[in-house]
Amino acid sequence: MNDDRFHEECAVFGVYGHPRAADLTYLGLYALQHRGQEASGIVSNDNGSFYLHRDCGLVADVFRPPALDKLTGDCAVGHNRYSTTGASTVTNIQPLFSVGRDGPICVAHNGNLVNARELRRELMETGALFQTTTDTEVVLHLLARTTGEWVDRMKEVSARLSGAYTLIMMNRDELIGVRDPNGIRPLVIGKFEGAWLLSSETCAFDLIGAEFVRDVEPGELIVIDRNGLHAVKYAHVKAAPCIFELIYFSRPDSLFYGESIDRTRRAMGKQLAIESPVDADFVISVPDSSNAAALGFAEALGIPYEHGLIRNHYVGRTFISPSTEQRRAGVRIKFNPVSSVLQGKRIVVVEDSIVRGTTLKQLTSLLRSAGAEQIHIRVASPPIFYPCPFGMDFPTRKELIANSYSPPQLGKWIEADSLHYLSYNGMLQAAPNRNGGYCSACFSGEYPVPLPPEYGGKLALEEN
Ligand code: 5GP
Ligand code: MG
Repeated sequence: MNDDRFHEECAVFGVYGHPRAADLTYLGLYALQHRGQEASGIVSNDNGSFYLHRDCGLVADVFRPPALDKLTGDCAVGHNRYSTTGASTVTNIQPLFSVGRDGPICVAHNGNLVNARELRRELMETGALFQTTTDTEVVLHLLARTTGEWVDRMKEVSARLSGAYTLIMMNRDELIGVRDPNGIRPLVIGKFEGAWLLSSETCAFDLIGAEFVRDVEPGELIVIDRNGLHAVKYAHVKAAPCIFELIYFSRPDSLFYGESIDRTRRAMGKQLAIESPVDADFVISVPDSSNAAALGFAEALGIPYEHGLIRNHYVGRTFISPSTEQRRAGVRIKFNPVSSVLQGKRIVVVEDSIVRGTTLKQLTSLLRSAGAEQIHIRVASPPIFYPCPFGMDFPTRKELIANSYSPPQLGKWIEADSLHYLSYNGMLQAAPNRNGGYCSACFSGEYPVPLPPEYGGKLALEEN
């Protein structure tokens, strides 16, 4: 295992009180496929009998008929995985399912604990046996050692956990949603035909035709049982939702605290145009992740937005490839330039973010070979200097290209005619104004939780 990168995060979804709970979960996971394409799983609860189906692959492949038929019951929990902690083995696929003194319990987790290794070692010393190498199992163990009301149990457990954890859990009688005290990863509440839904993003509600109720707050615990939904704060809160959800990760048709993510991305593009305008024939995006920012940029400058790159949607995300070489090939497989549009033109390429620089380096040469005369790169987020330990796919500091090249040097290396990033303050200005602020540690290095010295990265648990 030589892959020390953090990968992007996951999707979680839960249903309480609908006769087609597993079908709804399947639809939810389908809409949330962008949050993880490695594996998928659903656990259903049929009056206390639990059924589970998990496998590697995309949602539609994992749940080929008749897989869903056996997932009976009116409660269900689902998960799409893109490994954060733990290698991509079948045993690590979520939801995890265990039986303890309170009976069966399953858990689906989005985020990444930064002290999982330390906790796991401590648990093993007291005799705990682990079946997986994911940090999520640590949470299950800690919870199993507590008793009483959920709010007290979460209080006790969260005092031990450091990092990002949005959790959906299910036991015989309850569906439980948890957002960590920083609220790093999202979680929203929905309603459909009298049933309660929990989801990573609101786009899943749209597919189902469900109503969006509200965001779960940082440090909030949601317990849903036959008496309805009960919400309670279980921790002292220091809200720091991940700003990268707005830049890249969430779908643009999802809402962030009721605000359109598409609108925020356009505002970032617009701000970028104000900060770094350029005289060009038109603007193109790197589909699909920078479409909204590119539209905002073009609109602000009053120049056209064109489709200069066509994306093959049937290729997995570039980042899935295990080596840099494969990643390079991945970019070419994924995008094809449209020569008839680009020939002899001065173009602006709006990209949402630069991580390693692989995508843009490749694209610039592709666009040139397709006849583009000038290529101006505009990046709708600031330079990424710091790795993300909370579940994003940011590699070590060394691999983050912004640590090696200043913007003009990077422009040169990429062989662009110019290159500018959105400023840090410009980003915050374009994002919805949140009193509590954001986690923007990848840009600023200010992490909302202290990182333990022994923090070891994605495969930390494998080394034990
Ligand atoms: P680079 O090629 O510079 O390494 O990565 C930048 C590209 O990857 C951008 O097109 C951006 O949309 C995408 N990207 C940014 N962050 C992530 C991430 O955490 N995971 C994945 N899969 N892609 C990302
Ligand atoms: Mg992209």
